Amino acid sequence: MHPTDFVFLGLSGRIWLLLILFAGMALFSYVMLKRWQLLARGKPDDRFREWGKRLLNTLLYFFAQRGLFKDFIAGLMHAFIFWGFLIYAVRTVTLFISGFYPEFDIPVNAWGNMYFASKDAFSLLVMLGCFYWLYQRLAVKNPRLTLSRGAIFILSLILTLMVTDLLVDGSQIAYEMKNPRGAWAFASSVTAWSVTQMGLSQSALSSLHLASWWLHLLLIVVFLNYLPISKHFHIITSFPNVVFYTTTPQGRMMKLDVEGAFERNEPLGLQTIKDASWRDILDLYSCTECGRCEAECPAHLSGKILSPKEIILELRDHAYEEHPLFGKPTATRDLIPLSVKPEEIWACTTCMACVAACPVQINPLDKIVAMRRNEVMIKDQYPTLFTDVFKGFDGRGNPWNMAADARLEWAKGLDVPIMSRLQQSGVNTASEVDYLFFAGCATAFEPRNHKIAHSLAKILQQAKIKFAILGEEETCTGDPARRIGHEYLFQLQANKNIQTFSKYGVKRILTVCPHCFNTFKNEYPDFGGNYEVVHHSELIAQLVKEEKVKLTKKLEQTIVYHDSCYLGRYNKVYGAPREILDAIPGAKRVEMKRSREKGMCCGAGGGLMWTEEEPGKRVNDLRLTQALEVKPGILATACPFCMIMMEDGIKTKNLSLQDKDIAELVAETMENGTSS
Ligand code: SF4
Ligand code: SF4
Repeated sequence: MHPTDFVFLGLSGRIWLLLILFAGMALFSYVMLKRWQLLARGKPDDRFREWGKRLLNTLLYFFAQRGLFKDFIAGLMHAFIFWGFLIYAVRTVTLFISGFYPEFDIPVNAWGNMYFASKDAFSLLVMLGCFYWLYQRLAVKNPRLTLSRGAIFILSLILTLMVTDLLVDGSQIAYEMKNPRGAWAFASSVTAWSVTQMGLSQSALSSLHLASWWLHLLLIVVFLNYLPISKHFHIITSFPNVVFYTTTPQGRMMKLDVEGAFERNEPLGLQTIKDASWRDILDLYSCTECGRCEAECPAHLSGKILSPKEIILELRDHAYEEHPLFGKPTATRDLIPLSVKPEEIWACTTCMACVAACPVQINPLDKIVAMRRNEVMIKDQYPTLFTDVFKGFDGRGNPWNMAADARLEWAKGLDVPIMSRLQQSGVNTASEVDYLFFAGCATAFEPRNHKIAHSLAKILQQAKIKFAILGEEETCTGDPARRIGHEYLFQLQANKNIQTFSKYGVKRILTVCPHCFNTFKNEYPDFGGNYEVVHHSELIAQLVKEEKVKLTKKLEQTIVYHDSCYLGRYNKVYGAPREILDAIPGAKRVEMKRSREKGMCCGAGGGLMWTEEEPGKRVNDLRLTQALEVKPGILATACPFCMIMMEDGIKTKNLSLQDKDIAELVAETMENGTSS
C-alpha cells in the first residue's frame, strides 16, 4: 500500500498531498515575490556578459565549493551538506510525484542503483556535516559562528529529513521483505535490518513507512518556506550570486559619473538602500553568517568596531525593515547612522581580505566604499584627519601636501633621466624610454623610502634598462582619494596623469608602490589610460632570472616576506617577491601563518595611513606580532606603505628586526651593489 492510499476526513491521501503542496508553494511564492520586488528595485548593474568566465566561476565556486576549502575540514563538512542537497533534489521530486503516481520511482537499473547508492552515502555524509556544525556551535562555541536558534533549527531539520528519508526506504524493505536494489541501497538496508531487529509487526512497519513518508514530505515543505525568511536563503541565492560575480579585475573600483550625477541631482554612493544595485541586494540575501570574512578582517581582529559580516547583516536588516513581507514598503531612510555606524566604514583598510574569504563571493568592501563616497561627496562627513589629505590633493596633487620639487629628493646623486629634459634635448621618449619609473608619493615624500627608489634605480642602471622619471610632473595616482570615497578628486588626478603620460608617449609603467600599480593597471583603463604596468618585484625577478642582475653577495639571514594587499590579493603577485628572496645567497625564507591570499594588511590602505589608531588596537602591531612568531632577522616588504607601517611598529616596540624592501635587498646583494 502506498502512503497516499487512504481517506481522511473524506479526502483521499492524494488530495491531502495536493493541498499541502499548494499551501506550501503559495506561501513560498509569496515570500519569494516580495524578495524579488526588493531585488528588482535595485539599480542596474550589467552582469550579463562574459558567460565563459561566469560558467568557470560557477563550476569552481558553486559546484566545487572552492571558496570553502580554504579551511579543509569545515569546507568538507559544508560541502557534504551542499552536495547532498543536489543529490536529494532528484529524490524529493520523485517522492512528490510518487504521491500521485505510486508506480513512479527511480528505475532499478545500473543508473538508478548508482544514484541510490550515492543518495544513501550522502544521507550519512549530510548527517555527519550536521553533527559537525552542531558540535562547532554548541560544544566548541566557534567564535566565527553565530549561535542562533535558526541555525540549530535548520541543522536539526536537515538531520530529521535524512533520518525520515532512510526510514521511508528502510521500513518499506522490512515490510515488503524484499530489496530490489540489494547492496546499492546499503544505508536503507541497514535501516531495514535495524527496524526488523526491533521486532515490529507488519502493521507497525506499514505505519512507520506511512508516518516517515508524510513527515518527510511535510518537513520538505517547512524547509522550503523557512529558507527565504532566514539566513538559509543562501541555499537559493548563492547560485545566482556566484553566477553574477564580477568578471572585471578584483582590484578595480566601479567608475562613477560624478559630474553627471551632480548635474542630474542624483545620489552618489550608497546613502539609502534604494541606491544599492540588484547585485548588492543579492549579496545581502546570500550571506550565510559564516563569519569567515570577520575572522580575516584586520580591523575586526585589532579590536575595531568594524566587522564585514555585520556590515552585510546591517544592510540586509535595514532592507528587510523597509520592505516588510506584509504591508507596503516604508519610507526609505539613510543607512548611516541608523543601521551602520560611521566608525565602522572608517575602520576599513580596503585590504579585500573579506572578499577573498567569502565562500559565496559577497563583496562587503564595495558597500563600505560606496557608503564612504556618499559620506564624503554628498554629506561632507569624514574623519577630520582627511581634511588635510583632500587639501593636499586640491593644492599640490598629493595627499602629503608636499611641493613638487620634493619628488626629486630621492634621486639626488643619481644620474636619473627625467622625461621633460629628455624631450627638450630631442629624445623621442615614446620610443627611447622603455619604462616610466613612477616612484609614487609614499616613496618620494617619505625619507625612509628614498632608499627603495634609489636601490631600484641602481638595479635598473646595472641591468641597462632605459627608464625615465617624471620628476616634478609626477602627481599622485589618486588611489587614496578614491578609497577614502572622494571619487571626484580621484578622477581629476587620473585625467591629469593620463594627459602627462600621453605627452611622453608612455606605454610601460614601472611602479614601486602596489597601490599605484593597481590603479594604473586596473583603474586607469576606465579613463582611457591603457598601459603595460609592472611592479618592481616582477621586473627584478625577471632580471635576476635572466642574469641581467647577479646576486653574488651572501646575506645569511632569515627573511620573512609580508604580502602587500594591493600586490597580492588585489593582483595575485605572490611569486615574484619570493623568487627574489630565494635567489639571495645565504638567505633563508620563512612564511608567516597568514601569507599569500590570507596575508594580513599593514593597516595603511584605504587612506588609514593618515588616521590615528589607538595603542593596543593597531593593525601594524598585530601584523608584526605575526611576523615575529617565525623569528626572522629581516622583514621584507614590496610596498612603501607597508614599509612605513612596519617601520613605525618596529620603532614603537623597539625591536631589533630590520625592515627592507626587496629592491634594497637586491641592491645590497648584487654584483657591484651597495651594502647598507
Ligand atoms: S576590506 Fe579588509 S578591513 Fe575592510 S572590511 Fe574587508 S577585511 Fe575588513
Ligand atoms: S559575507 Fe560571506 S564570509 Fe562574511 S559572513 Fe557572510 S557569507 Fe560568510
